[in-house]
Amino acid sequence: MIRYNQFDFTLDKFQQLCMSLDENNYSSLTMEEYLTTNSLPEKYIMMRHDIDRNPSKALETARIEQEYDIKATYYFRTVNDNLFCPEIISEVNEMGHEIGYHYEVLNECKGNYEDAIKLFEKNLKKFNDLGNVKTVCMHGQPLSKYDNRDIWKKYDYRAFGVIGEAYLSIDDSVNYLCDTGRNWNFDHCLRDYIPNKKESIHVNSTDDLIELVESGDISNFYLLTHPERWSANGFEWVLFYSKDIVINLGKRVLRVARTW
Ligand SMILES: [Zn+2]
Repeated sequence: MIRYNQFDFTLDKFQQLCMSLDENNYSSLTMEEYLTTNSLPEKYIMMRHDIDRNPSKALETARIEQEYDIKATYYFRTVNDNLFCPEIISEVNEMGHEIGYHYEVLNECKGNYEDAIKLFEKNLKKFNDLGNVKTVCMHGQPLSKYDNRDIWKKYDYRAFGVIGEAYLSIDDSVNYLCDTGRNWNFDHCLRDYIPNKKESIHVNSTDDLIELVESGDISNFYLLTHPERWSANGFEWVLFYSKDIVINLGKRVLRVARTW
């Protein structure tokens, strides 16, 4: 019988990961810090969280990170009031984490660039009313025909006081890993990838990742997680796990369909 503490992608496991990064002297960098520093630390961790579904889960990871002196970057969506939750966003920000806009305007405006940039500006203001937003990050929608990042082929985010985009402003010296698909590899990331980055280190579980942190072989990690995937108890774990199986199955079907 499998016990809860043997599961991966639990908050306990996330805590172990943060503890290991702290004990092995990885300095944390927010996205803004990464983009503005003159010299990168010898060893660093960039912890990025895309809040796709459940903002309250952001508070759980944010508190764990605070305990281990890790400053992370949290991107929130605005498509409905359940996702754009000013109290939660402010609380995460007050803990020392960076907050930014997880935009999807091209998809919302069905490919109309002029409407999309107006919507971007309007939504960015909602964030700027809560704190000074310096970076943004596109929300990837595998079922949509629009890539939200394409808006920057026509417009410049710098015109809105933004200094960087979490995919486009990162160079290929970072070791990018994401929790999409309940492992840390690229297999399930249809749109969660960094352009031009061909290879990355491969780990299959958070325990593997912790082992890599402890090995001292890797000088940096850029980790993307979705806090709603990290369960607080056995019941949540079974619930999230079944949801992910369905989503991954959908993506696999889509991938096959695209090759026709
Ligand atoms: Zn997203």
